[in-house]
Order: sequence, then C-alpha cells, then structure tokens
Amino acid sequence: MHLKRLEISGFKSFARKVVFEFDTPVCAIVGPNGSGKSNIAEAIRFVLGEQSMKSLRSKRGEDLIWNGGGAVGRSNHADVTIVFDNTKNEFELDYDEVALKRSVSRDGENQYFINNSQVRLRDIFELLGKIHIGATGHHIISQGEADRILNANIKERRSMIEEALGLRVHQWKIEESEKKLAKTEENIKQVESLRREIAPHIRFLKKQVERVERAKEMREDLKGLYAEYLKRENEYLTAHRARLAEERTGPERELKDLEGKLAEARLALSSENPHDGKSNRLVLLEQNISAARTTKDELSRSLGRIEGMIEFEERRLQKARDQHKEVEVVAYRDVKGFTEDLEEQITQALAQETIEGMRSILQKARGIFSDFLARIQHTSTETPVDVSEQDSMKKEKSDIEGKLTLAVKEVQKLGEVYEALKEEIEKEKDSSRETEKTIFKMMAQKSELAAMMTRIRGEEERIAQATAAFQEEIREGVALIGRDITLYENFAIVTEEVLAEDRTVQEERRKHIEKVKIKLEDMGAGGAEEILKEYEEITERDTFLEREIEDLEKSAASLRGLIIELSLKLDTDFKEGITKINKQFHEFFTLMFGGGGASLSVVAQKKRKRSDASLILDEDMPPPEEEEEEGIDINVSLPRKKIKGLAMLSGGERALTSIALIFAISQVNPPPFLVLDETDAALDEANSRKYGDMLENLSKHSQLVVVTHNRETMSRAQVIYGVTMDADAVSKLLSVRFDEAAAYAK
Ligand code: ATP
Repeated sequence: MHLKRLEISGFKSFARKVVFEFDTPVCAIVGPNGSGKSNIAEAIRFVLGEQSMKSLRSKRGEDLIWNGGGAVGRSNHADVTIVFDNTKNEFELDYDEVALKRSVSRDGENQYFINNSQVRLRDIFELLGKIHIGATGHHIISQGEADRILNANIKERRSMIEEALGLRVHQWKIEESEKKLAKTEENIKQVESLRREIAPHIRFLKKQVERVERAKEMREDLKGLYAEYLKRENEYLTAHRARLAEERTGPERELKDLEGKLAEARLALSSENPHDGKSNRLVLLEQNISAARTTKDELSRSLGRIEGMIEFEERRLQKARDQHKEVEVVAYRDVKGFTEDLEEQITQALAQETIEGMRSILQKARGIFSDFLARIQHTSTETPVDVSEQDSMKKEKSDIEGKLTLAVKEVQKLGEVYEALKEEIEKEKDSSRETEKTIFKMMAQKSELAAMMTRIRGEEERIAQATAAFQEEIREGVALIGRDITLYENFAIVTEEVLAEDRTVQEERRKHIEKVKIKLEDMGAGGAEEILKEYEEITERDTFLEREIEDLEKSAASLRGLIIELSLKLDTDFKEGITKINKQFHEFFTLMFGGGGASLSVVAQKKRKRSDASLILDEDMPPPEEEEEEGIDINVSLPRKKIKGLAMLSGGERALTSIALIFAISQVNPPPFLVLDETDAALDEANSRKYGDMLENLSKHSQLVVVTHNRETMSRAQVIYGVTMDADAVSKLLSVRFDEAAAYAK
C-alpha cells in the first residue's frame, strides 16, 4: 500500500483537522450531497501540487480556505498533508514514510514541504514523478469528469495516456534536452560572433607579424650579403694598399736619387758656365717646372678628394630622397592609434540599429582618415633633404678646377719654353753642353717618375676613399643588424679571386645591399616584440574559442542523438502501451456492454501552420504547409446497435465506455492509487455489479479511494468513511459500518 494517511485542516469545508487512514485496498467515502466528499478528492489534488484553480472548483487560493460559518471562525490558511509508505524506498528517500504538505494562506501564497522541510513545487513534482504521478491527474477522476478522456482532443488524450503509461519521464527528458540544445546552439552563435569580432584584428596583427618576420629574414639575408661584401672589400683594399706601398718605394727612391743628381748637375753647370744665359735659364726653368708640377698634382688630388666627397654625399642624399618618395615614414604608434580608432568606430557601427546611426559613425570614420592623412603629410614635409653641404662642396670643386686649369696651363707653358730651350741648346752641338744634356735626360726621367707617382697617389687616394666608405658601411651595418656585422671576417674567400673580379660586380653588390637597407628601414622594426606578443595572445584566444565551438558542436550533436533516441523509445513504448491498453479496453468494454468492441488508434492529424485561411484564395500561392500531429482516437461499436461514433452514445454509455478505458489504462500501468469521485453515478444495478468486479480487480495493483452513493460499490470497500455536515457547515468525519453506510449515503 502506498497511501497511508490524509490530513485536512482549514481546507474548504474541513474547518477542523480530520485524518483519513488508508490502510486497505479499497476505501469508500460516503455522505449526503454537499457534505464535503468532493472536497476530499480536491484536497488530494491540492496537496499533489495541482496548479489549476478550475480543477479545484475555485477562482483564487483564498477560496480554498475555510471561510467561516456558524460558530467556527474562518481560517487563515488551509493545510493538507498526504503520507506515503516508503518502506520499499520507491521515493529514493531514506525514510519509511514520506509526508507531502501544502499550505495556502489568504494572500494566496503557497508553501510546500517534504517531511516538514520546505521545498519548491518542482521538488514535489520530481518526487511524485518517481511513482508515476504527474500533472494531468489521470489517477484522480473528479465528479462528472469520468468522460473527460472521451471529451479531450486527440492530442490531450495522447498526453493523458503517455502519463498513465509512465512515459512522461521520456517526454521531460526530451524537452530538457531540447532546451539544452537550444541553449547550446545559442552559445555556439555567441562564440562564433566573438570569433568574428576578433577576426579583423587577427588579420591586421598577422600582417604586422609577417612584416616583422620578413624584416627578420631580410636582416638575416643582409648579414650574409654584408659578410661577403665587406670581406671582399677588406681583402681588396688591403691588397691594393700593400701593392701601392710596394709600388711607390722604387720610384720614390729613384726620384730622391735623381733630385740629388740634378742638384749636383745644376751646381756643376753654374760653376762651368757661370755667365751662360741659357744654362741659368735651364736651371731656373727646371726648378719652376718641378714646383708647377707639384702644385698641379696637389690640385688634382684635392679635386679627386672633393669629387669623392660629393659622390658620397650624393649617395646619402639619394637614399633620403628615395625613402621619402617610396614610403612616407610614419611612426608605428601613429598607425596603431589610427587603426585602433577605426576599429572602435567599426565596433560601434556594428552595434547600431538604425541606418542613421551607422551613417553618423561612417562620417566620423571619414574624419579619422583625413586627419591621419593630413598628419602624415605634415610629417613628411617637415624633413626635406638638406643639400646645402653638397652645394658648398660643389663650389669648392669648381674653385679647384679653376686653379687646376691654370696650373695645367702653367706646366704646359713652362714645358713649351723648356722644349724650345732644349732644342736651342741641342743645336749648338757643343761638347761643352754635355752637362746640359745630362740634365735633359734626368729631367725626362724625373717627369716619367713624377707621372708614375701621380698615378700611385691617385690610386692611393681612391683606396683611401673606398676605405672611408667601407668604415661608414660598417657603422651603418652595426646600427641595422648589430655587432654581428664584424663576423664578416669569417667569410671564406681567396684574395686572388677577389682581385681577379671586375670591380663593377662588387659595386652591384653594394647597390643591392643599399636597396635591402632602404626596404628594411622602411619597414621599421618598432614594436616587434609587442606585436608578436599580442598576436600570440589573440591567436591563443581564437584557438580557445575554436575549440569551445568544437566542444559545443559535439555536445549539440550528442543532444540531438539523445533526442532522436528518446523520441524513438517514446514512440515504441507508446505504441506497445496502446496495444496492451487495447486488449484490456476491449475486454472491459465487452464485459460492460455484453458484446460489441472498442479500441484506441494512433492517428495523425494534419495541422495547418498558417492559420490565415484567406491566403489560400490566391491560386498562385502554394498551399500552406501542414504538420503531422499524432494523437489518439477512440473507436467503439455497441452490440446490436449501429452506433460507431462517440458522439452518438447515451450518457450511461459514455460513462461505461470511459470507465472501461480508465480501468484498462490503470490495468496496464497501475498507478499507486486511484481516486474515483462518483464515477459510478450513472450505472444501473447490473452495471454497478460489473463495476464492482472491476474495482476489486484493479485494487490488486492500485489503492482505491472511491466517493460513492452506490451500495454495490460500498460493498467492495474494506473501510468506509462517512462525511456529514452540521448546521455550522463544517464537514465531519466518522468511520461507519457497511450496514450503516447506505443510510449515510442518502
Ligand atoms: P455531492 O454528493 O453533492 O457531490 P459533496 O459531498 O461532494 O456533494 P462537496 O462538493 O465536497 O460536497 O462540498 C461542497 C461544500 O463545501 C459546499 O457546501 C461548500 O459550501 C463547501 N465549501 C466549499 N468551499 C468552502 C470554503 N472555502 N469554506 C467553507 N465551505 C466551503
């Protein structure tokens, strides 16, 4: 037995506390009309959590509370407690008895208790779910409601039967899974939108990172290029310096010797022919030519130097010009600020709901663009290329050129004079002119040696300039790629190979390095660390979100699987249940009617999705979509009558049919208890007996509480409670014997 006790206090007509003990399979409640019997069935509904006021024949919670009458003042609250046996632990609670209590106060507030601990309504439902008692209340048949199952539509019938078969658990699980699925899908959408939000930033940073990496690669390449270039240059310069040092020793010494010999010859000449005009002129001329040549040499060296400087400066200026031409140099922080501003505007724009809002944000964005452009243009005009240094060098160069032209003319003029004098003297064929002839020879030698020295000095000058450029290159290299630049020393190359190479190849190398350097400077290395770190962080977050979506997709898929699985189970269990119910239904029906037949059938009803039927009037429109809805139809055929539809049954026939169905359902999946409130009201004597037989049958599996006026029904109960009502309108309870019961029922 499940039901042990029912305690009612302050509920409807039960002003004072009454206690029903249900310790027998069938318990009958008898009493005159209006004495409060149905209030007992309602008290049971109430305590089990009924939320429909209509089912409790009330409008408000207050209507459920004893409202006063006679000498007994009105109550402030109605309390009903129902006590179940739990020795078999069907409630999965560690108590032998489980007492549910519900209390309603005049302000309409409801309180629920399980074994005196306050709980939520949900907890009550969950607990009752364990003994297959649910919200449709198929186990409590109210007065006049016996044929509720006949009146219900096919869908309502289906859920009543599902509940009676204990299949609501599957239904709940399906609903719960559907809710979870919807939430999961919502979460997926949210995470996806988060990913979409950060995507542009990732793309931006990715480009930055690529730039940083490209710069790194270029720096590595540059290191290699530098190593070869510098090593070759160093070898070249060292070798040529050594060669020139070597080359200059011979002519230098010879020149010195010649100088000595010339001085001696000059002395000899003046002592031999002190008054010879030609000799004196020759000596003077020789000295002047030497001086003029020295001046010319110095000037042409100066010219070479200044030309080198101008070329060097020109290279520097060209680099500066190229940088301004190719890319405006803009500080990284400016660009970052600019993109951040724009991103902010984009986020705002995406959040706008109206076109106007969007438009005003776009206007702002346009302002940001033009401000940025104006700013960078401003920066670029601030640093024009300074050519004043080069200009003054050019001026100095033309000065030197002027002087050099004069010096060349001077040397030329003196040369002509010297040649004429030489011719004159040689014509004389005089042996006394031997010394002069020696001088001529030495002069020619000297001129040769001087030309040689001029060439060597010129070369030395070129090498010195190249050395200066080489050192400058190293300085720039250090600034760009650090001290690693000095590792060029380790670059393996054979000196002969360097010297054998055409110089233009090395010049090409230098130009290539120059290009790489410019590109590298344009890229700028600013904030590399910061960019890499930010990129790493944001991609980590993106991967995290991606994985989260994967996980969510997985759980969505498993929820979908579960829903399908549960739906299939629900379907098969339901169809099996229907088959079983049909067998019983037919049996009870033929027993009651002495023949005929009855069955339930699962039917699908088309349901229109679009309710607006007028839309169909347009013939071009496709017909509105239809959705199948499964439900339960009841088919009956009475013996000897040609009646087939439910609508044609008499009141008594309806009662008999629904009793047969209720009992059939209860037989297939017996509820722990059944409350039948005057279900037998319409039965004649013969049918009352059959009803009584069925009650006895049912009571083997379910506990029965029957409210009745029927003697036959009373005779099947082991305990009979009489309910009376005195002049004070309070329902009272007394146990009655069967022989007294019929009298009470009147
Ligand atoms: P019948 O045999 O005619 O079906 P019954 O025994 O089932 O009658 P009920 O319907 O249970 O009678 O009881 C109805 C009685 O309960 C009425 O007299 C009604 O006045 C009384 N009643 C209902 N609500 C309250 C309330 N809040 N306070 C006092 N009495 C109430």
